[in-house]
Amino acid sequence: MADLTLAALTKVYPGGVRALDSVELTVADGEFFALLGPSGCGKTTLLRTLAGLETATSGAVLLGGTDVTAVPPGRRDVAMVFQDYALFPHMTVTDNIAYPLRIRKVPGRERRERAADTAAELGLGDHLGRRPDQLSGGQQQRVALARAMACHPRAFLFDEPLSNLDARMRLEARTFLKRLQRELGVTTVFVTHDQAEALALADRIAVMEQGRIRQLGTPAEVFRRPANTFVASFIGSTPMNLLPGTAEGGAVRVADTALPTPEGLALAEGEKLTYGIRPEYLTFHQEPVAGALAGEVRVVENLGSSQLVTLEGPAGEVRVVVDEDTALAPGTAGHALPRADRALVYRDGELLGPP
Ligand code: ATP
Repeated sequence: MADLTLAALTKVYPGGVRALDSVELTVADGEFFALLGPSGCGKTTLLRTLAGLETATSGAVLLGGTDVTAVPPGRRDVAMVFQDYALFPHMTVTDNIAYPLRIRKVPGRERRERAADTAAELGLGDHLGRRPDQLSGGQQQRVALARAMACHPRAFLFDEPLSNLDARMRLEARTFLKRLQRELGVTTVFVTHDQAEALALADRIAVMEQGRIRQLGTPAEVFRRPANTFVASFIGSTPMNLLPGTAEGGAVRVADTALPTPEGLALAEGEKLTYGIRPEYLTFHQEPVAGALAGEVRVVENLGSSQLVTLEGPAGEVRVVVDEDTALAPGTAGHALPRADRALVYRDGELLGPP
């Protein structure tokens, strides 16, 4: 088994930055796990501590139930793939892939065979004699993957594995990575600041803020029910509308409108709440509609198969996704009606419901 456990893991850098604050986490054997969060939240520190490249201030790292906190990186049996792939520029593809085997004193012939096999598996069979500067970004990434795979590690650690690729390559490499991880079934932890990438790839996601995990769940869970307004604002290709409101007669009132409110909430009359609704879950109307937020169309952004409209009214800015065929002109009136069954209500920044 190669499950990974972090127990009360804390890292304080010299100078006092608390990069990890008592992190508790278990990644299951064979799981594809994403660490997601804004710049500086501690993702890379967490990954490097897992790899043994950084020493924890307190707490423990367990691999397959064994405490490896004091085990040096080379003996942890985990392979880290860096953002820049860290390939040796003067070595061929074969030599790059075989390098860790050489360090482990695997005999020359077996080394070359294993490197060639792994290269073939990753579609690099025709490029064995090339140097990294003779390869595309995607191919370089595959060499880095092959080098990590060649020693059959118990876990892969990826630091922003797709960030050096252009948008199209990125999508291709993403699908490739997902398929490869499924086939190999190796426990994998990857760091990203790209929520779409985390949602697309991971079995589960930890969303981090300032050295702490703010939510841990499947992509569907963190997308549908963000546990707090931090996660709500971070997940989703267009950020969720988070509207300050007040409880009134069992509904949430925002500015002068009582919004369609999910059932089953225990609201205290007059309390301050935040009403969360994704732009995809509002419908746009030219005419006034009961329960809809009124405003003026300020900005229309073309999303290809749809349009993102920013309405400005008494509730502040509200974003709505509208189908591609609706004609919209800045300066005209608009009304955005939320779907009650997709609305989320937060109290003091934490999810209150629906149940
Ligand atoms: P990014 O996405 O920008 O790489 P991150 O989420 O990976 O960010 P970390 O690199 O883990 O964040 O950094 C977490 C915090 O620790 C930051 O405030 C950073 O400035 C600080 N930090 C990182 N490395 C060191 C170091 N060697 N010495 C002091 N502080 C550090």
